[in-house]
Order: sequence, then structure tokens, then C-alpha cells
Amino acid sequence: MLAQNESVLLAFQGIQNRFCKKAIMFKVIDSAVPIACWSCSIGHNDSTLFCPHCSKIQPPPGGDYFSVFGLEPRLNLDLTALEHEFHRLSRKLHPDRFARAEENEKQWSLADTALLNDAYRTLKDPLRRTEYLLKLLGAEIGAGQESKEEKVARVPADLLEEVFELNMQLEEMRAASETGAEDPALQAGLEQAKRRFDGLLVEVDQDLRTQWQAWDEGDAAARASAQKRMVALLDRRRYLSNLVRDVTETLGA
Ligand SMILES: [Zn+2]
Repeated sequence: MLAQNESVLLAFQGIQNRFCKKAIMFKVIDSAVPIACWSCSIGHNDSTLFCPHCSKIQPPPGGDYFSVFGLEPRLNLDLTALEHEFHRLSRKLHPDRFARAEENEKQWSLADTALLNDAYRTLKDPLRRTEYLLKLLGAEIGAGQESKEEKVARVPADLLEEVFELNMQLEEMRAASETGAEDPALQAGLEQAKRRFDGLLVEVDQDLRTQWQAWDEGDAAARASAQKRMVALLDRRRYLSNLVRDVTETLGA
């Protein structure tokens, strides 16, 4: 049997866990937590930079980057509209407009501007946008430091042979350039490999776009499967980009 204070502790931890989970769920599923405007006291969603009732600036909202622009999370975005909205909000937040405002409002104009800039930088870039959305949904993306063994284990199965071949060529090329020897055949082989992997990157990007569509328009099951596919595609993309970078560096050395 548990001592009484132990069971109290466990119960407390249970409550804490539920709280944490709930807070995270809220942020992902419903970024629009209602709060009251500091100025007019009317409730509004915590996703807006300006009160919809009295138009006063609000402290940096707690929603996601999409909600800063009044958007639902989605992957196909109208970039012209996004840019337009970014400039419109930037002008409204400009510190010059708050020269005679209260100190709080001055601070918020700076903090909201920083948030708006981060949100725009993330959403206008297709890859950053995809990563951001997947992270919002709880995916772990982009391994940090990894060992050589982990790197080998991550080689996409269908590329094992080619990558092995390429690594041999890279070694040879590096050894050759150290001795100052020229090997046109080796050089041509590497250039060909670079074109091949560049082509694979283009394929990954096309595939990603197809998954965007599937996620934006799909039901829960379609979304879940698109999410999984996108995480794998981003992983493949990162791997291929590193390869292309290695080849380019070796060719340029
Ligand atoms: Zn208000």
C-alpha cells in the first residue's frame, strides 16, 4: 500500500500531467483561446494583434503563426495575400504610430512586430512552413547531432548502393586533390552524381506538394497519413541536400 503522502503526490502529478497535456492540445488544436481586451474588456480570440472591437493593439497573442494572419493551419498558402497582409500589419504595428501611446502599447508594438516577422519568415518559406506545421502537430523533425552509425542507418534504403558508390568517389576525389592530381573521369562522374541527386530533390519537392494538398483537403485519416509521409520526405530531403552539398564542396575544392 502507498503511504498517504505518496498517493497524494501521485494524484498531484496526475493533475499536473493533465494540465500540461491540455495546454499543449489547446495550442495545437484551438489556438483561439478567448481572452478579454485590456482596453475595452470585451472577450476576443487570443490570436489577434488588434482588438476586433476597439482596434487597440494587444499583447503578443498565444496562438500559432497561422493565426497571426487570421489563417487556419494549412500548407498551400496564397503567398501574395500573405505578403500583402504582412505589410498591412507591419504598418499598423509601426512604433512611430505608438509614439504618444501608453508605455505598454509601445512595448507591445515592438513585441508584436517581432512575432509578425517570425511568423512571416516561417510561413512564406515552403519548407519552413511544412516543418513548422508538422512540429505544431507534434512531429519530431531534424535530428540534432548524430553519430556516424546513425547517419549510415538513415541512408534511404533505395539509395544505399548509389550513396556507397558516391562516397567512394568523394574519397578518391579528395585524395586526388590533396596530391594535386587531376582526374577528369572522376570529376565527370561526380558531376553526373550531383545532377542525379539534384533531380531526386526535385522529385521530393513535387511529392511534398502532393502531400500538402492531401493534408489541406483530407479528413483526419488522410491528414495523419500525409503527416507521416511529409516527415519521411523532409528526412529524405535533408539527407539528399547534405549529399549534394558534400559533392559541390568536393568539386569546388
Ligand atoms: Zn478592445
